[in-house]
Amino acid sequence: MPYFDHNATTFLAPEVAETLSVTLHECYGNASSIHREGQRARQELEGARASIARSLAASPGEIVFTSGGTESNNLAILGLVRSVPGERKHVVTTEIEHPAVLEPCRQLEREGMMVDYVRPGVDGVVNAAEMAGRIRPETVLVSVMHSNNETGAIQPVSDIAAGIRERRSAGQPIYLHCDGVQAFGKIPFAITDLGPDLYSVSAHKIFGPKGVGALYVRKGVPLRAVQFGGRHERERRAGTENVPGAVAFARAAELCREGDCMRVAELRDWFEREIERRVEDVEVNGRGAPRLPNTSNLVFRNVSGENLVIALDIAGFAVSSGSACSSGSVEPSHVLLAMGRSREEAGSSVRFSFGRYNTREEADALIHAVVRSVERLRKAARREVSFAV
Ligand SMILES: *Cc1c(COP(=O)(O)O)cnc(C)c1O
Repeated sequence: MPYFDHNATTFLAPEVAETLSVTLHECYGNASSIHREGQRARQELEGARASIARSLAASPGEIVFTSGGTESNNLAILGLVRSVPGERKHVVTTEIEHPAVLEPCRQLEREGMMVDYVRPGVDGVVNAAEMAGRIRPETVLVSVMHSNNETGAIQPVSDIAAGIRERRSAGQPIYLHCDGVQAFGKIPFAITDLGPDLYSVSAHKIFGPKGVGALYVRKGVPLRAVQFGGRHERERRAGTENVPGAVAFARAAELCREGDCMRVAELRDWFEREIERRVEDVEVNGRGAPRLPNTSNLVFRNVSGENLVIALDIAGFAVSSGSACSSGSVEPSHVLLAMGRSREEAGSSVRFSFGRYNTREEADALIHAVVRSVERLRKAARREVSFAV
C-alpha cells in the first residue's frame, strides 16, 4: 500500500529490522547485571546512547532513553517543573502542541500551576517575541515544538531559546523544552545551535520501532524523575532498559543522517504543485511558513476530509485527516482551529506525509487518486444538495 502517513508512524527500515532482530535474540542480558551477558547489553546500550548523542551533536551523558515521545514530553515537563523550588510556578506553551505536551500541562494546572497557551499566526508559526512577552518572574518552563506534526510548520526555537538564556543569566530559573519528535531525522540541526534545555525524540517516526524514544537533558539542567524504581538512566528513568529498542533507534537515526532529505522535499513540492494545478479550491495549511520537507496539509473546500481519507484508503493510499490521535473522533483539528481555520475548513483538511522510501511513481498515482476522489466527492455533494432542494 503506498504509504503517505509517515507523521503518524512509519514501518521499520530493512536495516533497522535486521539490527532489531539480531539484538533481540543475541543481546538479552540486563544492562545492570555484572556477568558477561549483562556487560554486553550495557556496551550495546552505551553505544546506542553515544550514537543518538552524535545525531543531536550532544554528549552521551545528556541522553535519557524512554518508551517514546509521549514519555519524553511527560518526563521533561513534569520532571523539570517539579525540580524547581517554589510555590507559584508558571509555564508557557503553545496552542498547537501535541496532546503529549498539552495534557501534562493540563495536569500541572490541576496541581495548581498556571499555564499560558500562545496562539500561532495564520501560517501555523508562533511568534518568538510573543512567547517571550508571556514570560513572568515565576515562569520556570517554556515548551514549544520544533515542528508541528499536522502542518510541518517549523517554530522559531533558537530565537525563543535566546530570550530564555537571557532571563536565566539574569538569575531566573527558567528552561526551554522542545518536542522534537517530528523534526528529528527530518531536518539537520545541532542541538547547541538550536538551544533547548530539553528535547524529546521518538524512534517510530523515523523508521524505527514503536515504544522507544529519548530525552536530551542539557548538562546541568535539573530534572526530577517521574517514575520510581531502580537507579537506571542516572536515576532519571527507572525501569530495565530496552536495549534492542535503543540499538534499533540509534540505527534508524544513523540512516536518517546518511539519507537525502532533499529528495523527499522534491517529491512533496511536486505533489503540492500538481494538486494545486489540477484541483480547484485547494489551499495549503501553513503556506509561507518554513515547513518540514515531508509534510503537506491541504484544505479541499466542499469536501469532507474524513470521506477523502476513506476514498483514498479504498483506492489503496494511506493518508490522514487531522492528527492520528484525533481522527476517529469528529472533533476538528485543534492546530488548524488555532491557525484561524473555520471548523468547516479544518474538517475539509487532509495531511499527506511523505517518507524516504516513497517513489515518484507512488506520488504520481497518489496525485491521480486525489484528483479523481475530490471530483467524485464534490459531484456527490452537489447531487445531495440538489436532492435536498
Ligand atoms: C508522535 C508524536 C508524539 C508522541 O510520540 P510517541 O513516541 O508516539 O509517544 C509527540 N509529539 C509529536 C509532535 C508527535 O508527532
